Amino acid sequence: MDEKHLSLRLEKASAYVPKNGRLADIGSDHAYLPCALVYRNEIAFAIAGEIVTGPFITAQEQVKRLGYQEKIDVRLGNGLAVIKLEDNINALTICGMGGALIASILEDGYQDGKLTGRERLILQPNIGEEPLRKWLMNHQYEIIGEELLEEDEKMYEIIIAEKSQSAVSYTQAQLTFGLHLREKFPTLFKQKWQRQLIKEQSILASLKTATKDQTEKVQIFETKIAEIERLLK
Ligand code: SAM
Repeated sequence: MDEKHLSLRLEKASAYVPKNGRLADIGSDHAYLPCALVYRNEIAFAIAGEIVTGPFITAQEQVKRLGYQEKIDVRLGNGLAVIKLEDNINALTICGMGGALIASILEDGYQDGKLTGRERLILQPNIGEEPLRKWLMNHQYEIIGEELLEEDEKMYEIIIAEKSQSAVSYTQAQLTFGLHLREKFPTLFKQKWQRQLIKEQSILASLKTATKDQTEKVQIFETKIAEIERLLK
């Protein structure tokens, strides 16, 4: 991967960044996403935010190597803390982390007044899509787009959301399985949940043979499995 060739996952996420936008890419270990968008002349400005020093230095070096320092500011810090009001950010990408971590980064940013509501959220959780959708719903963000893709034998979802003027409400099934994914990607969607079903069934089988009492967990997994089986019918 480099500024000319993004992974399919980042390529799909990048397509949702508004043209000429001002982007904050949080968790930007190589700054690949902002660099590709600057290379294509598709954004006006980007922050590449990174919490860990090693990846922060890698991102800095990448931006310097390409001579993009005028357009990409690499900043060391936790989540949205790297964003200043005067940056006028209108797009936020958080990719390649768990959904619960993305939700906690958004929550901290929300508490610190870093989310103005004017920024489009482009989120790519590796797992844990459900808590992320729940966070979006509870903070009045409407899911305006979703992607499902497979790369290196892994399935990835991308969730695009914007602040709504009114309350947002999703059903439990929508929070778990997404709003549009089944209709938009029927084959991949089926494969994703068939694989997930096998994983859940194998966990359930080992819980049932455990020596410690696992009744509560068994019930949780049985409910999950029934939900997926209903979906796949
Ligand atoms: N976004 C890139 C991608 O999708 O290919 C990199 C993903 S990498 C797996 C996750 C990166 O997020 C790591 O470099 C990690 O240090 C960084 N990260 C994790 N938590 C963070 C936080 N709270 N704030 C900023 N960066 C964070």
